[in-house]
Amino acid sequence: MVDALGRIVGPRWVRHRRAELATYTMDGLPTRESYPGVVVMPGSTAEVREVVRLMHLTGTPFVARGAGTGLSGGAVADPDAVLIALTRLNRILQVDPRRRRATLQPGVVNARLSEAVLPHGLHYVPDPSSQAACTVGGNVAENAGGPHCLKYGVTTNHVVELEVVLPDAAVIRLGSRQGEPWGPDLVGLFVGSEGMFGIATEIVVRLEPIPSSVRTMLADFSTVRGASEAVSAIIGAGIVPAALEMMDQACVEAVEASIYAAGYPTDAAAVLLVELDGGADAVEAEATTVETILRARGAREVRSASTPADRARLWQGRKKAFGAMGRIAPDLAVQDAVVPRSALPDIMDRIEEIRGRHHLAISNVFHAGDGNLHPNISFDRRDPELADRVQVACREIMAACVAAGGSITGEHGVGSDKIDYMPLIFDGDTLSAMRAVRLAFDPDERANPGKVVPLHACREWRATPAAR
Ligand SMILES: Cc1cc2nc3c(=O)[nH]c(=O)nc-3n(C[C@H](O)[C@H](O)[C@H](O)COP(=O)(O)OP(=O)(O)OC[C@H]3O[C@@H](n4cnc5c(N)ncnc54)[C@H](O)[C@@H]3O)c2cc1C
Repeated sequence: MVDALGRIVGPRWVRHRRAELATYTMDGLPTRESYPGVVVMPGSTAEVREVVRLMHLTGTPFVARGAGTGLSGGAVADPDAVLIALTRLNRILQVDPRRRRATLQPGVVNARLSEAVLPHGLHYVPDPSSQAACTVGGNVAENAGGPHCLKYGVTTNHVVELEVVLPDAAVIRLGSRQGEPWGPDLVGLFVGSEGMFGIATEIVVRLEPIPSSVRTMLADFSTVRGASEAVSAIIGAGIVPAALEMMDQACVEAVEASIYAAGYPTDAAAVLLVELDGGADAVEAEATTVETILRARGAREVRSASTPADRARLWQGRKKAFGAMGRIAPDLAVQDAVVPRSALPDIMDRIEEIRGRHHLAISNVFHAGDGNLHPNISFDRRDPELADRVQVACREIMAACVAAGGSITGEHGVGSDKIDYMPLIFDGDTLSAMRAVRLAFDPDERANPGKVVPLHACREWRATPAAR
């Protein structure tokens, strides 16, 4: 296999020694680790196709990988699988400012795209906090969100066309540059498919004009409940901020103790970062209303960034918060769940109760406007008893979010981390339907096997053991 892959991509782009493979044993999830059999790094769509054809002819499972920043174990491969790393496919192929479209390879780093189109007064909206590292291909596979997706929508709302290499090596195009496809929305189906339907090798995205006016506000609260209630109250008032993010005290302390210090008040129980954008007059009017709501809900102070540098600093603290938490403990389990916004105050109390009962270090930094929680547990996985408590707490948090009318992931995907939680929200029939969709793209289930759909919970698995 190593030789055959080397003939396709050149021997230097095949990694098989144990030390080389070590880089690829994990993604951003610290609880799942596995050595892939081989790593191959194709440099063109033609090479991706030939690699996938080899996988098809030899019946070999494969896993696509972008930057490996995923937080659900999705880009991790078992020893019997080949990991196809797409970071060499990192070119922006075309920018069409008039039609507001960009065509790019999947290994383009998210933040590079907005930098490249800035001279045209445009940007690419989905901005995961990992945007300095994660790839747009990984964003497509995970249907990634980000702070500014509250108002403008997540990745699926910004991808119009895809070139995909299917698991049998056929190359197909889904959607259209105009973004108005006829027939079923196959782009919508592929976005969020977590590497199970094939490999995206070309992506056409929408670009949006940079808003003429932006106001970034920081409000601090003496209770988490007050901050949570303010989130619902802002949306309830009919205002949809560009971003509405919350950080609790543990998170603020970690940020302020790090090189990413942003001037957040460390004595606050929670801070909210609210960003409004649009025309100058509308932003001004909304800012007045938002400030009134924040104060009415108990904000001790509300301040606005007065310069672009100020604003960048406020955002840096938020976007680098996970990195700052690296100082607390060797490992960080970044959890991801969603609840209805109105359930935020109660779910935050519940997470606090779970934290106390299991004696864990949990910090919260999340897309509050979307009700998209990220309770982050700092721990050391070399301590098995502690690692067990982390797993139990994660499961309890997920169950609490589901009980509150929410779901087990908002943006980080299911991967292998959440696969056992799928039956919390889907019955056997629904899981079977998901598997059937997957089989339409990948009849042999070789693309990212063992992820997302728990086979043992599918209807046919339970009904007929022969289906195995
Ligand atoms: C500090 C930090 C902050 C984060 N913040 C956010 C956030 O705000 N919002 C958010 O949504 N996520 C966030 N994430 C999670 C992660 O960055 C996203 O899921 C991102 O989309 C993953 O991109 P990647 O290139 O690293 O993909 P990888 O981790 O390499 O892969 C992720 C999945 O995509 C598949 N895949 C990769 N490329 C392709 C392709 N070309 N075709 C088909 N399948 C492919 C893989 O098989 C895997 O299943 C954060 C992660 C970190 C570490």
